[in-house]
Amino acid sequence: MSISPAVLETVDRLVGFDSTSRKSNLEIIDYLKDTLSALGADCRLTRNEDGKKANLYATLGPTDRPGVMLSGHTDVVPVEGQAWSTDPFKLVERDKKLFGRGSADMKSFIALAVSLAPEFLERGLETPLHFAFSYDEEVGCLGVRKLIADFANLPVKPRLCIVGEPTGMKVVAGHKGKRNFSCVVHGKECHSALAEGVNSVEAAAEMIAHIKGMQREIRRDGPFDPAYEPPYTTLHTGIVEGGRALNIVPNHCRFEFEIRALPHQDVDALTDRITAFARTELEPEMKAVHPASGFDFTIMNDTDGFDLPDDHEAVRLATELTGDNRTGRVSFGTEAGLFNNAGIPTVVCGPGFIEQAHKPDEFISLEQLAQGEAFLRRLMGKLCT
Ligand SMILES: [Zn+2]
Repeated sequence: MSISPAVLETVDRLVGFDSTSRKSNLEIIDYLKDTLSALGADCRLTRNEDGKKANLYATLGPTDRPGVMLSGHTDVVPVEGQAWSTDPFKLVERDKKLFGRGSADMKSFIALAVSLAPEFLERGLETPLHFAFSYDEEVGCLGVRKLIADFANLPVKPRLCIVGEPTGMKVVAGHKGKRNFSCVVHGKECHSALAEGVNSVEAAAEMIAHIKGMQREIRRDGPFDPAYEPPYTTLHTGIVEGGRALNIVPNHCRFEFEIRALPHQDVDALTDRITAFARTELEPEMKAVHPASGFDFTIMNDTDGFDLPDDHEAVRLATELTGDNRTGRVSFGTEAGLFNNAGIPTVVCGPGFIEQAHKPDEFISLEQLAQGEAFLRRLMGKLCT
């Protein structure tokens, strides 16, 4: 297996753009758009509210029929507070590995897609090749939602999609969904020696204990799906803040929790159980003391899970391209859930490993990059005359 010089040059180029999620991604998007436009691709941008970030959707080949979409996010997680041994935004090759932020997650896949595009074209695309490059994936798959909404304005939607997140080139045909919540508990302050207040920290604690109880029940009774690790839906509280002094009954507490659900689990039903506990078990006692007290739940982020059967067209195409019939299911989320929910069958398969993502000295091995290139070359054989 070999790697084309154009692929290496493009990985180097893309890692060089500091596209940390909190910054603008327009430089990298303009670069990708210019590269694809120069090949004659039909390009569409969808922007965020202030116009400083954009998604790129591009089509190469015929525009009158649905094709195969290669998808990736252009943003990367921050490097601050991490001990890197080299400049994270300068690609460095050492021991047959390429080091740099985004090398694994997931600029190498984008580099492969873009740098091999001229060859797809030369070989004669009979089925179109679509590209979907998003912003703000790392902060909750925010950007791609606009790109998906824009599909309504297109004459044809992609037939299926491969999201090139790092899976070690194994085909992932399902992942869990994730719903994040923020909960503010309003109480009533008073001197702690008096018994007339509403203690928001204690109310939050009872709610958190209830969520933990639901987790115990699910772990014991299911539903289970052995394809996932852990094989059940998980609930967890990650942040609690409240209270100012021990001698004040706290009037404000806030906590954040999440549900990472198996694709077939009814997340709304779990959400209803949580809010119902607040409304019926906790709030009556609180409101009897102070009517304005109680719980405010906000869903901060909701990213769908998905699960495609192994005999689905999208899964079969991807496994034919990898040459490995085994498929996986993972617990981390990607944009694939949103694409599937929008009616575009999508699998996850890309070079590099999630174990190296988000860490200092993130890297992709040359071997993985070569496997990624071989994968796309086999796709050429499928899409071209
Ligand atoms: Zn990623």
